[in-house]
Amino acid sequence: MPIYLDNNASTRPLDGVVEAMKPFLGAEYANPSSLHRFGQQVRYKVECAREQVAGLINAEPKEIIFTSGGTESINLAIRGVLAAQPAKRHLITSAVEHSAVRRLAAQLAREGYQVDEVGVDGEGRLDFAELGERVTEDTALISVIHANNETGVIIDAERVCEIGARHGVRVHLDAVQSVGKLPIDVRELPVHLLSLSAHKFHGPKGVGALYVRKHTRLTPLTFGGRQERDLRPGTENVPAIIGFGVAAEEAIDLPPERIDSIRRLRDDFEARLQAAIPIAQVIAARADRVYNTSNIGFERLQAEAILILLSERGIYASAGAACSSGSLEPSHVLKAMGVDPQVAHGAIRFSLSRFTTAAEIDRTIRVLEEVIERLSATMAACS
Ligand code: PLP
Repeated sequence: MPIYLDNNASTRPLDGVVEAMKPFLGAEYANPSSLHRFGQQVRYKVECAREQVAGLINAEPKEIIFTSGGTESINLAIRGVLAAQPAKRHLITSAVEHSAVRRLAAQLAREGYQVDEVGVDGEGRLDFAELGERVTEDTALISVIHANNETGVIIDAERVCEIGARHGVRVHLDAVQSVGKLPIDVRELPVHLLSLSAHKFHGPKGVGALYVRKHTRLTPLTFGGRQERDLRPGTENVPAIIGFGVAAEEAIDLPPERIDSIRRLRDDFEARLQAAIPIAQVIAARADRVYNTSNIGFERLQAEAILILLSERGIYASAGAACSSGSLEPSHVLKAMGVDPQVAHGAIRFSLSRFTTAAEIDRTIRVLEEVIERLSATMAACS
């Protein structure tokens, strides 16, 4: 059986998610905007799913806008807030964003916005002093990644919101890697917008949501029907939304002991790997990290070579962000952290889930020992 340690790229949909979706791929095909009873039955289910998703972050259901996933939510949040405040032309993000924010920010810069990227320290922690200094009268939005997809480092969202509130600036969190894993309560956390994606916590792909706090002005990106409070027109992806609701419910119900056991597996993996393989370095080891993520740099080796050998042996992991795999460029996240390029080039992300077992971790360590020894020997022979 293959060992799947790429859960930050995507997770296995839960059986309950798949089962709940099935009727909506078949017999329950009516349009939820139709006024007849058939359509209204489907509408009812969509609204139940909205309540389930809202429950995951303690939002009100009407603050949840369904989208096609994290990327669309992020685009709607950032562009939507900027367009709603046309007099302001400044966006602040961080140097460790996912490409969904990073590439949008680059595009906005081309369109004439001023974009600032706040730096991080060697452990991937945001420089809050710099964040405070960057805010000006012209700042429309602060958008930062909540839990980093590559390193798992969690940014202190309360502090980001405090800085935003002090200057009257809106705050958006890319919470794609944190929602469903970490408790988030938008009644406690005064964030204005928060992006989430179902497939990162055992829901289906191609569906996500944007949380929009009441009274946050947002201009839609697309125009059409009146769905999703005019903010995201178009007939809803009903099966995916239904699955999203179930995944949200299941994430709420995941017992803390299960989370602790995933964390213990991850910590054990890191400790044993470092003991067995002296060149293995845990990246952001001292930072507050999501319990499932481990980024390990294998000094002087190439991540792609390691990944290929692991894959041949049925172990699936990732190099940096999933969407940048295949490129030999070292990750911008590790670069921003000042990780030695010799280590960054050989950095592999292992991301666990509730399905990861101790036996899988044992086997991964054994296989890694063999793979690293082989690659190190090849390198020594070539040099
Ligand atoms: N933001 C982060 C932090 C991510 O990890 C991802 C996916 O990898 C995204 C945004 C994009 O989400 P989606 O795949 O749902 O578009």
